[in-house]
Formats: sequence, C-alpha cells, structure tokens
Amino acid sequence: MTILATEIKAVITLFGATGDLAHRKLYPSLFNLFRKGFLADNFALLGTSRSEWSDADFQAKVRESISKVDEDQAGQYDAFVKHFFYQPHDVTNPEHYDKLNERIAELEDKFATEGNRLFYMSMAPRFFGTIAANIKSQGLLSDNGFNRLVIEKPFGRDFASAQELNKELTETFDENQIFRIDHYLGKEMVQNISALRFGNTAIEALWNNQYIDNIQVTLSEDMGVEERAGYYDQSGALRDMVQNHIMQVVAQLAMEQPLTFTDQDIRAEKAKALRSLRKYTPSEAAANFVRGQYAAGDNNNEYRKEDGVDPKSITETYVAAKLTFDSYRWAGVPFYVRTGKLLAGKFTRVDVVFKKPLIDIFATPANSNDQKLNNNVLTIYIDPTPGFSLTLNAKKVGQGYTTEPIDLAFSQSAEQKDLSPEPYERLFHDALEGNSTNFASWSEIADAWQFVDVIRQVWDHEEPNFPNYQPGSMGPKEADELLARDGRQWVY
Ligand code: NAD
Repeated sequence: MTILATEIKAVITLFGATGDLAHRKLYPSLFNLFRKGFLADNFALLGTSRSEWSDADFQAKVRESISKVDEDQAGQYDAFVKHFFYQPHDVTNPEHYDKLNERIAELEDKFATEGNRLFYMSMAPRFFGTIAANIKSQGLLSDNGFNRLVIEKPFGRDFASAQELNKELTETFDENQIFRIDHYLGKEMVQNISALRFGNTAIEALWNNQYIDNIQVTLSEDMGVEERAGYYDQSGALRDMVQNHIMQVVAQLAMEQPLTFTDQDIRAEKAKALRSLRKYTPSEAAANFVRGQYAAGDNNNEYRKEDGVDPKSITETYVAAKLTFDSYRWAGVPFYVRTGKLLAGKFTRVDVVFKKPLIDIFATPANSNDQKLNNNVLTIYIDPTPGFSLTLNAKKVGQGYTTEPIDLAFSQSAEQKDLSPEPYERLFHDALEGNSTNFASWSEIADAWQFVDVIRQVWDHEEPNFPNYQPGSMGPKEADELLARDGRQWVY
C-alpha cells in the first residue's frame, strides 16, 4: 500500500546544528522525508550553534551528511539543501534570539510556512531550560501557527532534576507541545507490539497472568563505551538505558488496551501501567537489581581503564532487574529486564514465556514423553532484524508419541526493512504532524525516574565488586541467579 504523503509546513529551528546527532541522524532523516514528499516546498530549517558558519557552509555540511543516504537520489540534493539556513548563535545570550526571530520570520515569508514553528534542542541538556526561557522572553513563539518543542535525551538525571527541567520547559510550552525523544519508540517492532497484541485475539486473550509465566526484555550491546566514555561514566546503564528505553518497551507490553489508537489514549494507558509498577523499598531494590561492569577482554580494556573513565569508577555498564506490577492483569508475573555493554551480541528482543499446560498428558507411563513439554515462547525481535517467532510443542514425526518444540517464525524481508523508516525519520515526521504517540509523556518519565532513583541511591552508597563480567558473555552470574531463584532462566 502506498501512503500518500501530506506535505508538512514549518520552520524548524535546530539548536546544535553542528553537532554529531544532527550530522549523523537528523539531516538524513529530513532528507528521507523530503524525497518521500512529506517535506516539499513549504519548509525551512534554521541551524544554529556557536560556529561562525555562513548559509553556504551549512548547506555544504548538510549535503555531506545526506550524501550517504541514497546516491540514486543525488539529483534531489540541491533542491533539499536550498531549504537550509544558518545563524551563529550562543544559546545563553538572550540578545542573540532577536536575530533568530528575524530570520525565522524571513523564512516563514519565503517558504509560506503558515507560522508553524518547531524548535529542536539537540544540545547538552544543561542548556534546555535556558533555551526554552529565551524562546519565550524574546518572543519567538508564533501567534498564528503551531509551536512545538522536540527535546533530546536525557530528560534529567533523577526525578528531582527531571521535575526541575519539566518546570522550566512548561513555563514556555504546554505538555502537548513537548515531544521528548526516545528513539526506541521510533523502532518498527516496538510500534508493532500494539498491532501484535490488540490486533490478534490469539495473543491478547492470553496476555495476562493466567497464561503468561514471565516476560523478558533484553537490550544488548556488543560495543564498549568508545568515545562516549566521559558522558557514560557520569550516567551508567541504569540512567542511560533502563529509565528510558527499557521502561518504554515495558510500558507497551504491560499497558491495557487503549480506548482508541490515539496519542492521548495510548499515553494514558502507558502512564497507568507505569504507575502500577511496584516502587521498591531500598532493600527490595537491592534484592531485585543486579549491576555489572565489564572486565578486560581480548580486544578491550576493562571499563575502569578506558580513556575518560575514573579509574575507581563504580558506574555500571550492565543492569538486570526483576520488575513487578501491582495490577490485576500482571500480579504474579515478573518482567525480567537486562541491558549492558560488551555483551554477546548487538540485539534487542522481548521473550514472552507462556505457562506450560497444567498437566502433561503425554507423559503417562504407557506413552512416555522423553521430551517434556516446553513453555511456549513468543519472541519479538526488535533489532537488528525485526520479526516474531512462536515456539509450540508438536508431535515428533514417527512411531510412538513424543513431542518436540517447533518454531513459527516471521522475519522482515530485506525489502520491507528498506521501506521501514529510521527511528529519527519517523519521530521527526510525527512531531511535525503533532502526533505524540511515540514520545514519552511527563507522567511516564516521572514514574520511571521515581522507580530507578531508589536503586541508584542504594548503589551509590555501596562498593560493588567490579569488574564482574566477561566481554562477550550475557552479563554477571548474579543476573542468572536472579531468575534461578524463581526457578526460571533467561530464554537467550
Ligand atoms: P554535540 O556535542 O556533538 O553537539 C552539540 C551542539 O551544541 C554543537 O552544535 C555545538 O556547537 C552546540 N553548542 C554548544 N554550546 C553552545 C552554545 N552555548 N550556544 C550554541 N550552541 C552551542 O552533541 P550531540 O552528540 O549532537 O548531542 C546532542 C543531543 O542529542 C544531546 O542531548 C545528546 O544527549 C543527544 N543524543 C545524541 C546522540 C548521538 O548519537 N550523538 C544519541 C542520542 C541522544
């Protein structure tokens, strides 16, 4: 099915236009929207940062950034970069916003964007509040079109700082004008969780504690901290991955069916799910969370010896946890989650482990079942190749009656994968359209921070026994023990 592109009209003001994210992700994503017709004549992007670039310098950089997207489309590069302009700007200087405002107004006239303004903050988070305050005080908000703010992660370092940031932003923008990026929400298979659940009686009817034994969410990375060491050492896996990406995936899995498939209803259900997540006491948190830090491997230093890392660092590069929901649907069903660096592979998957039949009728003395019945497992492969698989028990071919597990599997074809928009492309498009389904709301973020803050406080006051896992493994042995203690094990 071809989706007809509706053209979006707006001036995008990008703070951090010379940065790494803009170059690697944002310009290529906008180019994709352009060649698909979502952006056409009536848009402009005003890039800002402290560098003294001209419009021509900026256009050359944007061209360089999109040159890898699709060389067959080279004929469109010139038409695309003509929409890009640049203004040297120090975000901490209120007077500089006056010039920005003038240029935005010029671009609005030139490209007939109907007063729609989207501000994108792709900068160090310490500037987010300052930029929002200056946008308001210097009169950059439009009176006749929409005003929207897209904001990069991280959203705070704990509940208190996130709350402070939210207060600063909401002095300028309303909640429904704020689009907080969590690029996991832009992934095809994360979005597919809702289709799988609410589009299939065969799945949704079983999606509860009567039939599901446990759910496992794994976000595994095979690289170390690389050039992000300085940032990472101040953050750690709990803040960098669990509070945001893992919580967002878990909320999609745990939420009730939204009344309608609209952003308000979906966000309300996700927020409700996160509110029913049991907030642990410090001793419960210590018992239900495992942390790790990688040791030296064949091709890597141990974490504490990486450039930019404190040699005594207690920052975790690995987290596993058992989450518990106090809701009618999920009472008694643990959600085990884990994430880490330098693990056995780069992949993201969800394993939904169903209960076994109450009675194994095949295991009678007369008709002994050598192969015990297995749990059915529904695996949702999020990365790198999106797909599902469902393991079932079936009769083994031949005389006698034994069972064996078989796999029903679907995996996206290379062609489908090519058609699938990159997360940033999808999210940019949604923000321009005003659809906040795939952005984190304040309520979700607040609950997620309150949940992880407890464990952060416990961990910051206890000396861990680091390093404790080997590169290329799936983490420390304590992560296996976390499940073994419940009589379970990781599917992968
Ligand atoms: P970066 O350091 O590469 O770029 C920062 C930008 O801010 C540059 O354009 C710089 O010139 C500008 N800047 C700094 N101080 C300024 C000032 N006083 N006035 C005006 N401009 C100023 O950062 P990045 O890697 O592009 O990250 C941007 C945001 O995206 C951050 O919030 C980061 O957490 C988030 N993010 C980045 C990545 C990534 O892969 N790079 C991934 C996820 C999230």
